[in-house]
Amino acid sequence: MLFGPAGIPIACQGGTLEGVRTVAELGLGAMEIEFVRGVHIGLEQARAICAEAKQLNISLSCHAPYWINCCARTKEKLARSVRNILDTAKAAHALGARIIVFHPGYYMGRPAAECAALARQTLTTALEHMHTLGINDVLLGAELMGKGSQFGSLEEIISLAADIPQTAPVIDFAHYHARGNGAIKAEADYAAIFNKLEASLGKTAVTNFHAHFSEIEYTEKGERRHLELGTTNEPPIRPLLTLCAEQGYSGTIICETPLLEQDALRMQKIYGSLKNSP
Ligand SMILES: [Zn+2]
Repeated sequence: MLFGPAGIPIACQGGTLEGVRTVAELGLGAMEIEFVRGVHIGLEQARAICAEAKQLNISLSCHAPYWINCCARTKEKLARSVRNILDTAKAAHALGARIIVFHPGYYMGRPAAECAALARQTLTTALEHMHTLGINDVLLGAELMGKGSQFGSLEEIISLAADIPQTAPVIDFAHYHARGNGAIKAEADYAAIFNKLEASLGKTAVTNFHAHFSEIEYTEKGERRHLELGTTNEPPIRPLLTLCAEQGYSGTIICETPLLEQDALRMQKIYGSLKNSP
């Protein structure tokens, strides 16, 4: 299991390259590169980071811009979403990143099925462009979203991944908790998520997953803000890591709490103690 921060570690003064080094020095195994406000990286720079990450054995992923909406209302906005996915995928390819995470979209009052059909079309188009460029090694990761107004429930992202090759679900456990108004209380609630993943997508969906974790503040409308570990214990981290250790579920858990690398280290430590206890 790999743990790492969502973005450059707080303790790091430099850019992405230095961030990768800090992650390695801390003894973490992963880092998500945040392109949430745009993909601003040169190919040469990306390749240098790729080489460094490979040498230090750090697994990279990328987060695509926030303004992607795969089920947008207008052709222009859909085309822009394809462009943003493509730009992120190009950067990810040069970085040697395994997956790019994106926010699927918004219902904006429309039926879920209509949004799902549009999203499928958008992702298929993006993948066609990626294949023309020879980008066959980057997964498109639809993130589980934290508000009921957002397209991207657990079932919706599983369904996208089941239908479209080279896509994968990204389980944001805090978002699942907020969307379900406090849905995760115990290990059984995590088990239900993993059982759904495995039933629809097969074993690799639970032995090589990509996930986000933080604690979260929420209302009946869903997510409000991400919180440090130990603030409210919602959702609780320990039962998730216990389940993974018991069942052999494995993957990458990106820490999205305000403490980034510090809480990633806490998660890693808890997981290590569970793995090593008989
Ligand atoms: Zn996200």
